[in-house]
Amino acid sequence: MPEKSAQLKLFFTKKLLEWNQKFNNREMPWKKEKDPYKIWISEIILQQTRVEQGLDYYNRFIKQFPNIKKLAQAKEFTVFKLWEGLGYYSRCKNLISTAKFINEELKGVFPDTYEEILALKGVGPYTAAAIASFAYNLPYAVVDGNVTRVLSRFFSINIPIDTTEGKKIFNDLAQSLLKKGQANLYNQAIMDFGATICKPRLPICSSCLLASNCQSFSNNTTNSYPVKSKRISQKERWLYYLVAEYNDRFYIRKRAQNDIWQNLHEFLVIEMDLPKTTEDLLKSKQFKERIASEFNIISVSKPYQQKLTHQLINGVFIHLKLKNPVVFEDFVLKSKGQIKRIAFPRIIDGYITQQNMFS
Ligand code: SF4
Repeated sequence: MPEKSAQLKLFFTKKLLEWNQKFNNREMPWKKEKDPYKIWISEIILQQTRVEQGLDYYNRFIKQFPNIKKLAQAKEFTVFKLWEGLGYYSRCKNLISTAKFINEELKGVFPDTYEEILALKGVGPYTAAAIASFAYNLPYAVVDGNVTRVLSRFFSINIPIDTTEGKKIFNDLAQSLLKKGQANLYNQAIMDFGATICKPRLPICSSCLLASNCQSFSNNTTNSYPVKSKRISQKERWLYYLVAEYNDRFYIRKRAQNDIWQNLHEFLVIEMDLPKTTEDLLKSKQFKERIASEFNIISVSKPYQQKLTHQLINGVFIHLKLKNPVVFEDFVLKSKGQIKRIAFPRIIDGYITQQNMFS
């Protein structure tokens, strides 16, 4: 990496903090928060979730579980239900197990060193730096997509951000820019600056306080940064849910396999390599193996979609009324009232909500 001049670095930090003081009016409920528990909750919710979507969840979480003890002692299904719709359920599982660990092993006291925070389940370097700096003002720079974008543009760094070399370079640079003694202010400033000024698309360079020394702005290459070495390949999956009803109750199971959405619930499902018409699906071997009873088709839904990091899930829901009860491994019949209280993946929840089936 080309050595960035000390003057350029000083300029960056000074102007960023100046922008923060004069112009940053981004309001967030967790801003200026010093309680590590609340900061931790906000950071875990915001991992892979848009701020606008995360806000509501944060407020509901803090209302229902105002401290670590309440979260640690909550019934797991209550926490999963509150998490419903956020996706990435491993985050929720880690949240529960970390809350129990702190409550039971650390006597309910949130750790106060970077290393101990980093050792918590579900906490990576970014989240550890955020908690350490916001709660305790410890000198650890946050490095996420916002930060690498801002730094790669301002310093015109051509090294891909998703390589081992790139990660080290951006971490070292971010750390060297951190204003010691003001880590909390600096970290909040760069995150807000990336989210509101140096945005992924259409950065507001014309009114940017850093523009006079921004390397990519002066070369007119802002859109070339950040540089990435590879695109994430996305697998497309086709799931056909059989919403099988018998006597006003529905066949449901909890997912336990080593796949997405562990611990959430689902209807009977058939996975296909390619999209199928309903007619082809009903003729398929997989369908005949599952539905041995006579049935009536009540409805076939439009396709629903859910994007995961490496997968695009397509779901179609076929509501069937069975004439006889059948035995499906792992599946049990649940009433509408029971279904309302259990947690589903977002794609199924979207169907249930739109159909208004269980209200
Ligand atoms: S001038 Fe544009 S690209 Fe450079 S830091 Fe400011 S907003 Fe980002």
